[in-house]
Amino acid sequence: MIKKIQISRHSFDIMDTDMDCALTGTPGVGKTTVSNLLREEGYEVLDLNRFIKENDLSEGEDPKRDSLEVDIGKLKEVYEKKKKDLNVKIVEGHLSHHLSLSPTIVLRCSPAELKKRMEKKGWDEEKIEENLEAEALDGILIEALDVCEEVYEIDTTEKDPEEVTECVKEILNGETEMYEPGEIDWTEEYFSGR
Ligand code: ADP
Ligand code: MG
Repeated sequence: MIKKIQISRHSFDIMDTDMDCALTGTPGVGKTTVSNLLREEGYEVLDLNRFIKENDLSEGEDPKRDSLEVDIGKLKEVYEKKKKDLNVKIVEGHLSHHLSLSPTIVLRCSPAELKKRMEKKGWDEEKIEENLEAEALDGILIEALDVCEEVYEIDTTEKDPEEVTECVKEILNGETEMYEPGEIDWTEEYFSGR
């Protein structure tokens, strides 16, 4: 039998390096919650939605969907220009994968649990349905794989925010073998019975 041994591509502590990484995922999956825990541990985390607003990079807001219309090319350009001054280690937000940072970490959540998390945020039904479908179809993962060299995903469904934070730290420290993309599939859960 051939045993496949995964050797992680890097081993480092992100705190000691110049690198920056992205924390992305469908809205409601838990990015901001985890980011706040990472900040408590000393990580510099940039709130990309705030960065977009502060730098006037939003071409308009869709109030019904609480989403920003952003020129991604412009966003990348401004981020590249400002990142040295920001001293950022982690960029958080559902658009952060568009910056093509390495690694890019995608938080995932089963649609049933994600629905509960979004309801907790008080979002309207239409926005919830839209995001559930996006999560079920691996929307952000597919976009990330398209533009990022190194992508990992964390299934947060049965993890509390502290556990998810530990998973993020593992990836940042090069322990990536548990988080290779492609294992998660919500299609059966989401589409059966529809
Ligand atoms: P995002 O920033 O990805 O949109 P939030 O961090 O705002 O998501 O979290 C959405 C909701 O889900 C919040 O009410 C939060 O308390 C809850 N939540 C976040 N992470 C978890 C988790 N791992 N388990 C259970 N609930 C969570
Ligand atoms: Mg958020």
